[in-house]
Amino acid sequence: MSQFWSPVVHSLTPYVPGEQPQLDNLIKLNTNEHPWGPSPKALQAIHDAANDNLRLYPDPNADALKQVLAAHHGVQPSEVFVGNGSDEVLAHAFMALLNHPGGLWFPDISYSFYPVYCQLYGITPRTVPLRDDFSIGADDYLPNGSDRAGAIIFPNPNAPTGRPLPLSEVERIVSGNPQAVVLIDEAYVDFGAESAVKRIAQYPNLLVAHTFSKSRSLAGLRVGYAIGQAPLIEALERVKNSFNSYPLDRLALAGAIASVQDQAYFEEGCAKVIAARETLITELKALGFNVLPSAANFIFVQHPAHAGAELTAKLRERAIIVRHFKQERIRNFMRITVGTPAQCQALVQALKQIL
Ligand code: PMP
Repeated sequence: MSQFWSPVVHSLTPYVPGEQPQLDNLIKLNTNEHPWGPSPKALQAIHDAANDNLRLYPDPNADALKQVLAAHHGVQPSEVFVGNGSDEVLAHAFMALLNHPGGLWFPDISYSFYPVYCQLYGITPRTVPLRDDFSIGADDYLPNGSDRAGAIIFPNPNAPTGRPLPLSEVERIVSGNPQAVVLIDEAYVDFGAESAVKRIAQYPNLLVAHTFSKSRSLAGLRVGYAIGQAPLIEALERVKNSFNSYPLDRLALAGAIASVQDQAYFEEGCAKVIAARETLITELKALGFNVLPSAANFIFVQHPAHAGAELTAKLRERAIIVRHFKQERIRNFMRITVGTPAQCQALVQALKQIL
């Protein structure tokens, strides 16, 4: 606290990311990173880009990356926005598109950065409770007389539950709110949910955010993007160009482009995570855990006889880190990132001992 702080700084409750402990032999299953490394072609491209050209600024418009992403998703480059991680893309979207009378509607159990951006940008949040089974109820987002959303955001699959929402339900929300931008945060979509990108041409109010941090195993590179019709993208560009001309550096651009071009490696990596997830779910169910259906690279689990905080602490004593949330509705759960089969086995063995 200081007399020099501006009023808004006093009012902020900043987001707290999962820890990144610098310890050896730790099994780190707390921040939903990919357990296998990035494409060797991406690493090579980053290596090759580390040259004398680093004295020059990167392309402020990231045109080459937008082109490969547009081709990959079957859209126009003018329908792609890129940023320094999808968090930055989301932040710009909050400022550019999600601040309208009616407030921003999102699930009560969801990505905990959303309320933080609301505070930062003075957006009125409206939390919509998940159903009892922790699913998103599309009907809960539809206008009810004059009570209608100013904008809507939710992750699909949702985080931290992992539950996917079928595309038909996503579409009911988008088509039922033509007055509002609906932002689908698809950070985890490649692990088994259906993407709304294929509906971009149909809905001028649909924006979809993706990241290289999860399915492309490049969390350390900080690349994210959004896809939507050109007027929405233009709004994001206006904010970005009023904030930072060069959010993506030369190494990030080179690595991201090479990653998109290595489709085979990407698909293989997703398939390995999905297989490891299904094995882990089976084993945890055998230990008595309730496991929510997951289409993500993490699972959300709860044991009838043991509190989430207790299990999290005991795993930590055994050098295994998972994520626990204090929010009332989910305090008995743990969110576990899917690791390699060896890491998952170590987790299962540790839980057997603890239980
Ligand atoms: N959306 C969701 C739902 C997430 O869980 C995360 C990761 N914390 C992000 C967006 C942001 O990811 P990144 O900034 O690494 O792209």
